[in-house]
Amino acid sequence: MRHGGKEYDSKPIWAVAHKWDADVARPLKVNEFSGGAADTVKKLQALGFEVVKEPSNPDWTWDEHVLALELYMRDPTTTPGHGSKEVLELSALLNALARRSGLVGNDRFRNPNGVYMKLMNFRRLDPAVLAEGKKGLSQGAAGEERVWNAYLGKLDELRARAAAIRLAIDDAEVDLVPAADDYEAEEGGVVLRLHKSRERDRKLIGKKKAQVLAQTGKLACEPCGFDFREAYGDVGDGFIEAHHRKPVSTLKKGEKTRLADLALVCANCHRVLHKRGLMAVEDLAKLIGIRRAPA
Ligand SMILES: [Zn+2]
Ligand SMILES: [Zn+2]
Repeated sequence: MRHGGKEYDSKPIWAVAHKWDADVARPLKVNEFSGGAADTVKKLQALGFEVVKEPSNPDWTWDEHVLALELYMRDPTTTPGHGSKEVLELSALLNALARRSGLVGNDRFRNPNGVYMKLMNFRRLDPAVLAEGKKGLSQGAAGEERVWNAYLGKLDELRARAAAIRLAIDDAEVDLVPAADDYEAEEGGVVLRLHKSRERDRKLIGKKKAQVLAQTGKLACEPCGFDFREAYGDVGDGFIEAHHRKPVSTLKKGEKTRLADLALVCANCHRVLHKRGLMAVEDLAKLIGIRRAPA
């Protein structure tokens, strides 16, 4: 609770307050605390204290679930314990991710115990565990089930995705705060942020534009041919987005983007390319060609 701009733990204050209560005339002992939080809060507020509720922690994101599931899958027969190196490492990683993406929680945010509980919740979904008659925790968030089902039988994909997330967290240059204009994408979350940071290299994009302009005389969208200059005149001059062709999950740490990795695309095509994981630029061009061809 808050008083005079400072925060205090409510229990000791409440206990000591009873010294001045004529009926009690001594501090309360630990075992005398009851669950009557509502009464306590009312009395403390009447005494001029502001009672603040500890913020609850946000639900686990898709990316966080992926990291936890990848750890669980390293050895589904032996779940690492609360104090294990693996659990401590993941707890620290999730806290780093939260700091970088602007996620705010209380001081128990993704602590080792929370990470351990998450692993136990995955056990609950594991048929191999259930077949042995063992049980995981019975309560679990829906997010666990969605991620579990999405990667069922796709261990390689799970590992690639987890590696890409770690790559993004590792790269201090990447802005991990979600943006309002994030494309709707399976390759979403942290991995999309990494992808976009690789497309934002102004110098490289400038070089790419100059190269395409020299070769073709215009800056047309590679898949659909849309030319901003042709459609909008002067206002559209130089207007085109750059898209990184390679899925982030295939990039190595510190790998430099080359001109050939970029494709110039219009905003519409860019969104479509991201819609299903990552569609190849050539495949989208083919698709548009087929749809335009006279029947
Ligand atoms: Zn892109
Ligand atoms: Zn286009």
